[in-house]
Amino acid sequence: GDFAIDLDTVVIGSGPGGYVAAIRAAEMGQKVTVIESTFIGGVCLNVGCIPSKALINAGHRYQDALDASTFGINAKGADLDFKKTQDWKQNKVVHTLTSGVSMLFKKHKIDSIMGTAFLKDDHSLRVMQKDSAQTYTFKNLIIATGSRPIEIKGFKFGKRILDSTGGLNLPEVPKEFVVIGGGYIGSELASAYANLGAHVTILEGTSSILPNFEKDMVQLVLNSFKKRGVTVITNAMAKEAEDTGNGVKVTYTADGKEQTLAADYVMVTVGRRPNTDDLGLDIVGIETTDRGLIKVDAQGRTNKPNIYAIGDVVPGAALAHKASYEGKVAAEAISGKASAVDYKAMPAVCFTDPELATTGMTVAEAKDKGIKAKASKFPFAANGRALSLAQTEGFVRLVTNENGTVIGGQVAGAGASDLISELTVAVEGGLNVEDLALTIHPHPTLSETIMDDAEVALGLPINI
Ligand code: FAD
Repeated sequence: GDFAIDLDTVVIGSGPGGYVAAIRAAEMGQKVTVIESTFIGGVCLNVGCIPSKALINAGHRYQDALDASTFGINAKGADLDFKKTQDWKQNKVVHTLTSGVSMLFKKHKIDSIMGTAFLKDDHSLRVMQKDSAQTYTFKNLIIATGSRPIEIKGFKFGKRILDSTGGLNLPEVPKEFVVIGGGYIGSELASAYANLGAHVTILEGTSSILPNFEKDMVQLVLNSFKKRGVTVITNAMAKEAEDTGNGVKVTYTADGKEQTLAADYVMVTVGRRPNTDDLGLDIVGIETTDRGLIKVDAQGRTNKPNIYAIGDVVPGAALAHKASYEGKVAAEAISGKASAVDYKAMPAVCFTDPELATTGMTVAEAKDKGIKAKASKFPFAANGRALSLAQTEGFVRLVTNENGTVIGGQVAGAGASDLISELTVAVEGGLNVEDLALTIHPHPTLSETIMDDAEVALGLPINI
């Protein structure tokens, strides 16, 4: 064998979990090495959050260009050059961000090694490269290997049968696009391609799309899907897809009948699986759940005291900001700080039309915990800015406990992805609904809906 190279702190994976953990560990004075098999920046920057939001934005700009007659603007129709859209997404957005991560690594004197890591024992690992392999020892390790799309029976990924990565990198806007699975990833891309001109059909196995959001929020997305000609078929069991050369035939059962759809592409977004199966966890004796997620304590430590895990490989929501948050905690814990995770104010956003966002608890979740929770709602239709944007669909909901402390909130509507942060601060800081009502909000902004809703909660509404 080869001679081992000794390292201090090693991070496997450079996604929003790993790269953030690496930087924080370096800031705490550690000598850090990141090992990455595929792309710096992980799923999120390369084939997840960022490129999906770029396509969603392109869809909105295209729709604006096609029809701004609401504002008295009679444009003569717009031409979509989707190759340029993809080029912008890849080279101006994804590349700029991922090369930014590489620059940050340099700035913090973080070494990176391109290769696939495999654990040998609790203080050493092997990195496989194309034609070579090297053993490294480590003092501390953070596993941040993320997750990958689940492939289902009958849908072998290929040119026309796609995972989310294929869905993001389509060479053309499909005329007919079938999406299997109406979770947030499927719904976001369905929405984006509908805005870019595709006819989209979502096949959802359960009784509703977007199961992580409340019914009144999901209904707004369903309304908008309907308006834009997106067909949503629930209780539909996807059976198989057949590449027919110039298209794909999708077979599913619904209403007890077998049905088929012809499409240009089908994208399967039915969930993601943690990248923990090929890491050698069993050799080292690192404990996992029955779903293959790594068991960790509140500092991200596994049952091996010098090995940590963060992000999509540990239980909880598979979201980038959760991965980064856990990354900072683990890096600080390795550095001897008492940092620990607290998920009470975890936001989640779905970038459909309209955007949906939630933070902390819903009323139902609070009641399940025995909290006497109350909800107050304020509609976007009563907000001046929403009206001037012609985006009056939606509402803010504040969830408070019996002392009036904000324990959660939801926003459905324009700008929900940003508005949810104010509610997240409120939950994190344990603010009272009075604090939100007494905070001067700039006029005219969507954020006033939060102040207005706080006034509703206090029984002193002004604008409704
Ligand atoms: P990842 O980002 O998955 O990074 C793991 C890295 O580890 C990868 O680069 C991988 O190549 C590398 N790796 C794996 N195994 C090894 C190995 N053995 N050796 C070396 N390297 C290895 N989340 C949000 O919060 N907001 C969004 O809007 C959002 N949109 C999304 C859209 C799509 C289409 C998808 C697919 C996901 C989206 N997500 C979003 C989820 C988000 O991307 C993930 O939660 C996040 O990337 C998880 O971060 P991570 O650091 O745990 O892992």
